[in-house]
Amino acid sequence: MGLLNDFLTRYAAPAAQAPKKAAVQTPKKADAKTAAQQAVVKQTLPVGVGPRQGLPSKLEDVEIFAVGFSGGKDSVACVLHLLDLGIPKERIELWHHRMDPLDKPFMDWPVTDDYCRAFATALGLPIYFSGRVGGFEGELLRDNQFTGDVFYEAPTASGRIERHVIPSRTRPDDRGTRLRFPQTVADLSVRWCSAYLKIDVAKRIINNDPRLKTGIYCLVTGERAQESASRSNYAELEEHTNTRAHLVYQWRPVHKWVEEDVWSILKRYRINPHPAYKLGFGRVSCMTCIFANPAQWATVHALNPKQLGRVADYEEQFGPISITKRTIRQRIRGGYEAGKQLRQPTSSDTTFLDNVINGLVQAASKEDRIQILSDALQNEDGLEMAARLPEATLRRLQENMTLPGLKGRVDTLFKTIERLRYEPKLAPPATSFIPEGMARVARMSQGHKFTEPVLLPASAWEVPAGAYKHDGGPI
Ligand code: SF4
Repeated sequence: MGLLNDFLTRYAAPAAQAPKKAAVQTPKKADAKTAAQQAVVKQTLPVGVGPRQGLPSKLEDVEIFAVGFSGGKDSVACVLHLLDLGIPKERIELWHHRMDPLDKPFMDWPVTDDYCRAFATALGLPIYFSGRVGGFEGELLRDNQFTGDVFYEAPTASGRIERHVIPSRTRPDDRGTRLRFPQTVADLSVRWCSAYLKIDVAKRIINNDPRLKTGIYCLVTGERAQESASRSNYAELEEHTNTRAHLVYQWRPVHKWVEEDVWSILKRYRINPHPAYKLGFGRVSCMTCIFANPAQWATVHALNPKQLGRVADYEEQFGPISITKRTIRQRIRGGYEAGKQLRQPTSSDTTFLDNVINGLVQAASKEDRIQILSDALQNEDGLEMAARLPEATLRRLQENMTLPGLKGRVDTLFKTIERLRYEPKLAPPATSFIPEGMARVARMSQGHKFTEPVLLPASAWEVPAGAYKHDGGPI
């Protein structure tokens, strides 16, 4: 590497000292937009809605408020709002619909079950788990078969929790084939995950649980209008569809809330949010949600490549989840790539290739030029620095290196740089997607134990990194 170093010393222009920028904090574009959007929504809300809204009179005689509880911030806000309204704890219960069998996480955050349980315990509320036997993976692999039975927990008269199973229908024409991921569209018959694993599970419990055969019940869910255009069309209060004989309402008490209202009630009750929010996710349900953006796919890959690998393998078998046809693995790579570009190239990143060019221009013979290019190809640090450069800069530098008789070697140099741009070793380490100091939370998110207190001291509560990030959500 001697010749290149000689040229580096002799011909390299000293790295320009970048002028120090004034320490002005420019808000990120997305954050600024979010704040502006929220300001607009806030202004349009008349006084008396949002968190100040009372209990609708139709719900005064409700015996049980069953909150569809994912562990996400909106379902937490629903529970806290019911407490704010003075609804006695004996009339509130949490229903958590599992996406996967307990011992076989596929879509869910492994810690979600225990977070939900810990939340219920901390607030002194009962929680009942339910889901479809076989979960998401079972439904995905359905091949001329019935959809999975629904299991659910419910209390007996003595307060013991019993597990029940509601069989799926048994007529031959109820058989069906899935072998396809839900698609990222609004139509729930194509985006079958929420319909089959949450909405239909709740409906079957409501229709079949003997405990709910008489009386007035209310299913409470946390959809908010601000989340998406289709959610803004949901009714705040309606009679639950497809129920038999008995009266069941569906109430969305936080439908008009903006995100700021949600964090504000969590702060007031000092609720420690689900770990995913601290890792930078804006919403919590499935860890491998089909709506994840490339940065989220890359983060999930960094957190749990094994679980994500199973999902990505199925996608390759059954076709892409995304209507854009970009596969999960392409998105993971895009997320890593975007993560790399967040690391701004330093002056030395460009200097490496500038120096190679200078050396080539100044070299006395073709042999010297070949030697410089060979040295450059062996300079690992230099190649990695070059691989961080933006695409346009690389192309410009490559054009400047077109010297007669050396095209093959120059192309090899740039092919090597190009390959490095996509190699995992050049991807930022997992923690660079994760806010600083969150390595322990990242590990906890992948285990089956929520090891922090649910109720934090007031001084310890802070808005998590994922707050106000609207990417990767439902449509
Ligand atoms: S979180 Fe995503 S993948 Fe999971 S049910 Fe909802 S839309 Fe489907």
